[in-house]
Amino acid sequence: MNYTEPWEMHDKGKVMDLLHSPGYGLSTIEVAERRKVYGWNILPEPRGKSLLGIFFSQFLNPLIYVLIAAGLVSFWAGDKSDALFILVIIVINALLGTWQEFKAESSAKSLRKMVKAHARVFRDGSLTEVGAPELVPGDLVCLESGMRVPADIRLFEVKELLIEEALLTGESMPVEKHCVQMHQVGLPLGDQVNMAFAATTVLKGRATGMVVRTGTHTEIGKIAASLTQTEQEKPPLLARMDIFSRKISIAVVVICVLLGIIGWLRGMAAYDIFFFMVAVGVSAIPEGLPVALTVALSIGTSRMARRNVIVRRLPAVEGLGSCTLIASDKTGTLTMDQQSVKLIYLPDGRRLGISGQGYNGDGYVINEQGDLLDHEDDLLFELVKAAVLSNEGVLKKTRDGWEHSGDAVDVALRSLAYKLGKDPEYFTREVDIIRMVPYESENKYSGVYYQYRDQYYFAMKGAVETVSKYLSGTGQQIAFEESEGMAAAGYRVLALASGQVDSFETENLPELDLLGLTGLIDPLREEAVPAIRECREAGIEVAMVTGDHPATALAIAKRLGIAENDDQVITGKELAVLENASPAEFSAVLASKTVFARVTPLQKKVIIDGKKQLGHFVAVTGDGANDAPALKSAHIGIAMGAGTDLAKDAASIIVTDNNFASIAAGVEEGRFTYDNLRKIIYLLISTGLAEILLVALPIILGMPLPFLAVQLLWLNLVTNGIQDIALAFEKGDMAVMKKPPRRPTESIFDKQMNVQISVAALIMTLVTFGCWWLLINHFGYGEKHARSVLMMLMVLLQNFHVLNCRSETISFLKTPVKNNWTILIGISLAQLVHIGAAYLPGISKVLQLEPIALREWLVLLPAALTILLGMEVYKYIRNMSEKKIPSEKDGTNFFRDE
Ligand code: ADP
Ligand code: MG
Repeated sequence: MNYTEPWEMHDKGKVMDLLHSPGYGLSTIEVAERRKVYGWNILPEPRGKSLLGIFFSQFLNPLIYVLIAAGLVSFWAGDKSDALFILVIIVINALLGTWQEFKAESSAKSLRKMVKAHARVFRDGSLTEVGAPELVPGDLVCLESGMRVPADIRLFEVKELLIEEALLTGESMPVEKHCVQMHQVGLPLGDQVNMAFAATTVLKGRATGMVVRTGTHTEIGKIAASLTQTEQEKPPLLARMDIFSRKISIAVVVICVLLGIIGWLRGMAAYDIFFFMVAVGVSAIPEGLPVALTVALSIGTSRMARRNVIVRRLPAVEGLGSCTLIASDKTGTLTMDQQSVKLIYLPDGRRLGISGQGYNGDGYVINEQGDLLDHEDDLLFELVKAAVLSNEGVLKKTRDGWEHSGDAVDVALRSLAYKLGKDPEYFTREVDIIRMVPYESENKYSGVYYQYRDQYYFAMKGAVETVSKYLSGTGQQIAFEESEGMAAAGYRVLALASGQVDSFETENLPELDLLGLTGLIDPLREEAVPAIRECREAGIEVAMVTGDHPATALAIAKRLGIAENDDQVITGKELAVLENASPAEFSAVLASKTVFARVTPLQKKVIIDGKKQLGHFVAVTGDGANDAPALKSAHIGIAMGAGTDLAKDAASIIVTDNNFASIAAGVEEGRFTYDNLRKIIYLLISTGLAEILLVALPIILGMPLPFLAVQLLWLNLVTNGIQDIALAFEKGDMAVMKKPPRRPTESIFDKQMNVQISVAALIMTLVTFGCWWLLINHFGYGEKHARSVLMMLMVLLQNFHVLNCRSETISFLKTPVKNNWTILIGISLAQLVHIGAAYLPGISKVLQLEPIALREWLVLLPAALTILLGMEVYKYIRNMSEKKIPSEKDGTNFFRDE
């Protein structure tokens, strides 16, 4: 086959000829043959950074430049061992950094793989769903709203097909597609209206067509190289921390220069000053901060993935933890979307019950007297006929059981036919379908024009309000009265109607006859009830946004705990009226509602925007093509795994199991992750501050320097090297879901953070400086051994302090070790390495470390424990005072009731 074939210029027959493909699709065997020739329908993966590339990029860092300079200076001054040591430090740093970055990169890659596109295709004569990569040229495929076009397709049949091709043509106006043959050579893509191109999205309508080009031969494949770099935006927190690290670095440099001047005035040698200040800078600057935070975020994303939440945009990890409102779809998210018709109302007043459950045709239709009914009941026949005709679902009995695909409501209605003892086709004998009006959630109905004998008819099924528009006055009244009761009992009600027509335009439909009502039951997701309770305890409001009837919505909302009383419900219509009348009242009303019924997808955005204006940080779920605006507008858009490609593209998070409980789990993980970010910052900033204070005091007081330059570099390695990253693995305590969400605008350096950093740094400084002062001035220690003792003390203090950082509020004794073995391993390793260094001849010489005597140990240990004790006392006082002063929230609640 010729890859440059102008498919748009051939008619349907020629296309099928050229592709050797029959009108009913390919067989599995044929597909396998073709795949050998054409390969998989995939585009080349964007190439990530190579391991070597990541390694070398570690050296592109001002801090490293300074270290290299320091190494060169010391080499030139003849200090070969110091120079070598610096080199080793640089390499170890780079290796650590490489490992971390590589981990983050590969987890991002595996997440990308989890979002798969699907295609609906005819294989072996029947419509099935396959992964988009499995398509080959000649495949007969179906397109529907919300889908991403899986390959380049020559359209054979279209129904109101609108496709957005901005990705390919840059044109943001959607294109209306037809299937007429083109006659002009070399038309631009935007004008080839009988083609659908891979990677564009279907906004509306349906179509069938034949795959003509796949993979790299598609139009998008030709320009894929320019598209494959997927630039990940930097999470706001990381961006802020980058700026913060830069500020800290500048501050540290300024302090170093000042200290250097003081040292110089006190007669220190210039070479010593330079070298020493470099070391102070390197150990006090939290250069590991951005990386450690990135690791914490990527650990957060992989933990979320394990709980069925896939993060597409990294900022959502931190955002999900701070959301104050989750606006959820009803069907599929709060309920199982396993529709079954349980009740039928016929126009003669009969009410019928239906047995059976789920996607199969097993069950019966029984009247109030308990008699079985079958297809010979005329009214029932007409109702099922309309239900099966205006229907895009598939339900088939095969040798291995029941097979289904398509919309759950449609499948449920098809199953009625089997329950009356016949195949669905039995009800549509002698009928020719002329035109379908597919179901779109903004229309709330689906319909069909068909010919029966010499007459034309229209049949429809849909929401009672929609169908009623075409009924006679009495028909309307019956439908409303009957459906009201069904809806209040929690049934999703569909009305069916039909009538003769003489044109095929939906604009001029004549009056139709009511064929009856069907009541469907969609079981609640059991996990949703506790998940909603958990959200509420965590200060998160849960709202339901649905296209369903207000009474149905309320009945379900009550069972779920989303609403308690009737005035928490509002319909889309009422909202629209209010919005136009008075914006102030609109937002007041919006604040008090939790159930939004009969809402169109576009109104969803209005609700989200309104809630945002009320100060909410909003997460919203969506699955349909027209949910995209709401998903984009919300702070966090959540698409469902079963949702359309369009919704997934617009969302920042995808919930693979469509389950509300997973969203709650995601919130919890988001909060854990944010807490872990805080812990890392707490550790790095407080220890850095302590080091710089400890160095500054002796210089100002004219005492000998407490550390040598190489010792400071060493300290940096054994106290922060693994411990900061280890904090990112902290499991987090369940109390996070008992607290109200943090304000999204809140700085990470809130009062609590500033106080705990100051207190911890002060304790470490006082203990170490006191020790230094006593050793030098009181016990008459030699500088070399005094430094060895002081180093040991500092390493102990900082390693103990890691234990404090594991929780900001809970005692370190109550934070289970099993929650984070990494931290224990990190600390033990650091201790071992440090103690070992004093005994290893080479290293101990460079570092000027001497072994510590047992009796010194006996003093050092309790001295170092002060940091644990001190911070325990601090936590205790803080928790006490927090309990005494009721939080703002409790206070207002308390007083409002009086
Ligand atoms: P939800 O928010 O529960 O998902 P939808 O927007 O899917 O609600 O449905 C809104 C209304 O549209 C339903 O109450 C029903 O009356 C009607 N409807 C839903 N599915 C279909 C369908 N497949 N065919 C016809 N009408 C439907
Ligand atoms: Mg729906």
